[in-house]
Amino acid sequence: MKSEELFRRASNVLPGGVSSPVRRFDPHPFFAAGGSGCLLESVDGESYIDYCLAYGPLILGHAHPRVVEAVNEQIKRGTTYGVPTEGEIELAEAIIERVPCAEMVRFTNSGTEATMAAVRLARAFTGRDRIVKFEGSYHGAHDYVLVRPGSGAATAPDSPGIPVDTVRNTLTVPFNHEEAMAELIEGAGEDIACILVEPVMGNIGCIEPENGYLQFLRDITRENDIILIFDEVITGFRLAPGGAQEYYRVEPDLVTLGKIVGGGFPMGALAGRREIMENISPAGNVYQAGTFNGNPVSVTAGRETLRLLDGRMYSDLERKGSTLRAGLRDLLSDLDLEYQVTGPASMFQLYFTGEEVRNYGDAKKSDTVLFMEYFHGLLERGVFIPPSQFECCFISAAHESEHIEATLEAAEEVLSGLK
Ligand code: PLP
Repeated sequence: MKSEELFRRASNVLPGGVSSPVRRFDPHPFFAAGGSGCLLESVDGESYIDYCLAYGPLILGHAHPRVVEAVNEQIKRGTTYGVPTEGEIELAEAIIERVPCAEMVRFTNSGTEATMAAVRLARAFTGRDRIVKFEGSYHGAHDYVLVRPGSGAATAPDSPGIPVDTVRNTLTVPFNHEEAMAELIEGAGEDIACILVEPVMGNIGCIEPENGYLQFLRDITRENDIILIFDEVITGFRLAPGGAQEYYRVEPDLVTLGKIVGGGFPMGALAGRREIMENISPAGNVYQAGTFNGNPVSVTAGRETLRLLDGRMYSDLERKGSTLRAGLRDLLSDLDLEYQVTGPASMFQLYFTGEEVRNYGDAKKSDTVLFMEYFHGLLERGVFIPPSQFECCFISAAHESEHIEATLEAAEEVLSGLK
């Protein structure tokens, strides 16, 4: 097996054999040879129906011909300039047209950088130091938000190397729990700069906000002059053209974007109300910078991707998600397993638990050993989902009915063998 051999080599030069922790799974990950549409090919000659989709960016599937063509054209003219390009304006305008709260945009190179800038901006704007996040929410790998995180860090304790003083001002509460938030704000509201929330918790599986919860956050932040930041690195352009804020009809003050906005290339963005955004340097004095910010190749891929994402595609994605979730529930209802199938639109996850999953505490009670058996069973049958209970599965525009059917057949075989 070529992947096994490559993993041995990789482990010698890359910590853990990978470049990002969640990519590692036992006995070893497969190495990619290429991808096309909803299929991901390994160096071992296997082909997988891909529901990991690089953890979210590939809403059009792998190597969409129009994106590839646009990027090729751009690369011939240069890959980075250090001066502005018209493409940045076009992409910013496309974001502003779609995302309700966006009046101005700052491009970054990753979601991590976008949330880092958002927190600094919120602190500067309010003159307050404390920030609130949710147990199990993941906003990237920087110090301020790596407190009770989800995703790859969900299976490990908070990282060593983060000074206690750095995270003293990061407070956490459980998601979907109004009283806990109300209590926290009652006690510390005047010191809180922002609430940073993934509108759909996508780094502890996939957990939707309960009816009215996002509006509750909107109201309580407004009443207390706290900035509401939606981290839409996952949900942006995935749930709807305007992301979760359009899907759930709640408008934050700031939004962080990533993944889809770069069309498969490294990119993040911070957007929001003009009054706040104008404080970013050089318009204001809140420092944010990057050699590759607004990189023309990423901008081109992002712009082309947004152009291709039309209304019909979103309704198709919604339908495919519903079919897959309903199919999983249907086959699980005949089996002797406890389960929850969750997710909106083209996001989904399966938890092996009999109790409703409303937040991280609930997610942790699910049977993660059984989940990994499910993962490996699917993999053996040519279906690739993220190798962790604490990640979310995605569907792309390139998944056709035949792929969904094949996935449900594979899932039936795997699930009926689990105990
Ligand atoms: N925010 C959320 C909600 C994410 O899911 C992620 C990454 O998975 C990030 C931020 C960090 O983005 P990046 O990995 O591009 O730094």
